Amino acid sequence: MAILVMKFGGASVGTATALTQVLSIVLQEHERWDHLLLVVSALDGVTDALIEAAQLAHLNNRRGYRRIVATLRTRHLALVDQLPLGINERQALQADIDRLLFDMLGVCQELASQPADEPVSAAYDEIIGVGERLSARIVATLLRQNQLRGVAIDATDLIVTDAQYGHAKPDFDRTRQRIQANLLPMLSRDIIPVVTGFIGATETGHPTTLGRGGSDYTASIIAVCADAQEVWMWTDVDGIMTTDPQEVPSARNIAELSYEEVAELAYFGARLLHARMIGPLREHRISLRVKNIFKPRDPGTLVHTLPPDRHHAIKAVTMIQGISLGAEYSGPLTGIASLIDRALYSTTGSHTEVMISSQSSTRTFVCFIIPTTIGPEALRATQNNLLKCLQEVELHTIWQINPVSVITVVGERLNQFDGRIAAIIQALDHTRILALSEGPSGHNLSFVVNLEDGEAALNRIHEVIINSD
Ligand code: ASP
Ligand code: MG
Repeated sequence: MAILVMKFGGASVGTATALTQVLSIVLQEHERWDHLLLVVSALDGVTDALIEAAQLAHLNNRRGYRRIVATLRTRHLALVDQLPLGINERQALQADIDRLLFDMLGVCQELASQPADEPVSAAYDEIIGVGERLSARIVATLLRQNQLRGVAIDATDLIVTDAQYGHAKPDFDRTRQRIQANLLPMLSRDIIPVVTGFIGATETGHPTTLGRGGSDYTASIIAVCADAQEVWMWTDVDGIMTTDPQEVPSARNIAELSYEEVAELAYFGARLLHARMIGPLREHRISLRVKNIFKPRDPGTLVHTLPPDRHHAIKAVTMIQGISLGAEYSGPLTGIASLIDRALYSTTGSHTEVMISSQSSTRTFVCFIIPTTIGPEALRATQNNLLKCLQEVELHTIWQINPVSVITVVGERLNQFDGRIAAIIQALDHTRILALSEGPSGHNLSFVVNLEDGEAALNRIHEVIINSD
């Protein structure tokens, strides 16, 4: 029984044109595979709007969140209007959309009226997961209109998670039981389940979310628990690229990558994939394709176990913004890491990770990432906030805090082919390298450079990659 899991991202379900592509892809793959399982994201931009609505509700800004819900309603209904649906199907779908948004408005109202110091994260997750429930119903209706047995399924009934709201972890054993008991029997009735990405629920049924971009993770959880053969991620780009094409126009598609390479890429900032999705696929040797919905015949990028003779190339280079922290301090790094996390959380509302750290007898260097969307003002605020926190704790240390770029080169077993590393370092001949770190996996090499040197360094390394094959 060959099962294909296909995940459609926000851009693939956001417009009528894209949805037409989705439909033709599903019609085609339905012929080729025994069974299909679909996972969908919210329409693009919807989760951002929902997060804003939840924040406004928390601030008791009733007019603010109501305006957002009204805009979301208009957007979804306009999309439904453009789809070729029969009158009854259209009306049923419109009623579904209204009901989901009405219920969600109720949660916003509750949140608005609760005392400001009560925990909000459970209500947040309930609100921000509505986008996927809406899109799953739209896609399932479209399939049914075209002689396919599409059924929208809320992953709250399938994916069991812990109660870490906003960043919940799945319980694979329980999830597998539910998927085997409730989802797989549908396949034998020729149903194509359209499962909501991004969301799950605790054992007791409280809705949770898996972190931003979490629909990728949903696809991988479902594939593992349903023993699927492959996962295809449909996006609006050609696949995984040698670098971000918005930064470097000569970036090109990578035909194949190993799980290890793609895991490093996701971790070091290639925004295409959710970092946690790779582990389960690697463990179960489920191959992954990333494809463009507008070019379904193109092979895209294939992620699988690479044959040993294909380990030689440097595959890609990424760049992310970070903040570095240097000091004449040689105490334990763990203390600093949690201090940084606390200071950052209070400024940006999201957690961070220390990416690179090094220490000598008297000096410490720590480099960590910050969410790239926070913008220069927030960056400065973070810098100041962090300095204040650190000075409170370590009075006698002088801290240097600077925005930096972390450039990461990814290739399987990079550490075993010195020639490749030499070529990269040579390309950075005139760049001041603040720190250099080979990842413990041996599949990546990261350079920390001053923020303003990042772009040039990225371009030079990318040249080496393009010219090396
Ligand atoms: N809609 C969610 C987000 O925007 C999940 C996803 O799209 O993967 O983060
Ligand atoms: Mg995504």
